[in-house]
Amino acid sequence: MRRPLVAGNWKMHGTRASVAELIKNLRMLTLPVGVDVVVMPPCLYIAQVQSGLEGKAIAVGAQDCAVDPVQGALTGEIAAAQLVDAGCRYVLVGHSERRLLLGESDAVVVRKFAAAQSCGLIPVLCVGETLEQREAGQTLEVVAQQVGAVVEGLGVGVFAGAVIAYEPVWAIGTGLTATPQQAQDVHAAIRAQLAADNAEIAAGVRILYGGSVKAVSAAELFGMPDIDGGLVGGASLNADEFGAICRAA
Ligand code: PGA
Repeated sequence: MRRPLVAGNWKMHGTRASVAELIKNLRMLTLPVGVDVVVMPPCLYIAQVQSGLEGKAIAVGAQDCAVDPVQGALTGEIAAAQLVDAGCRYVLVGHSERRLLLGESDAVVVRKFAAAQSCGLIPVLCVGETLEQREAGQTLEVVAQQVGAVVEGLGVGVFAGAVIAYEPVWAIGTGLTATPQQAQDVHAAIRAQLAADNAEIAAGVRILYGGSVKAVSAAELFGMPDIDGGLVGGASLNADEFGAICRAA
């Protein structure tokens, strides 16, 4: 009943030339019907990707948005409304690289989530534990806190129009992937947390797995009952690999 979603997070990669090449290769992919596919380029290239993928069933998203939804005096930031204007449908909020390297707090993430939704964007809320937290047995607690901040701030109802991505920090860009069972356990815990407030919303929300997803590991991960697709970093820069991951969903 949940439609799978595969999102490619290009992070801070690309030049106009390499983006043009990637667009060309993405256009040649045979994508599965019944799977939502989105790519998230750096903001500079959103317009290029949006027009380059015209007519192809690949949506465009952004990797972040400002806490204020509308344009204004906030140097260097990009408002959710501007992302909509540029053709975006989705936006990541709370990616661990921003939480950890740029000090984004749950409070900021909640504001970005709300800003995105107020403009009609679908926020993809990223959550996940560090290696230290996993080894200390705090995984479920950390993830529950990150999801709980949004529930407490905005109400569980917001997850009717949002996506969650569970990304263990130790698996991002490291080549280490959570085992399907490790990931499934966390996904099930997130769903149970939401179900305590609203069973229908919990059953409907898509929860993606992210962290070194590759074509070889995708099918087994996506086969788990509570894993509804993937948030793909490094592997999304290669169109063939990304296409294979989409077909595994
Ligand atoms: P990775 O990144 O696939 O390169 O591990 C995933 C992410 O950070 O979204």
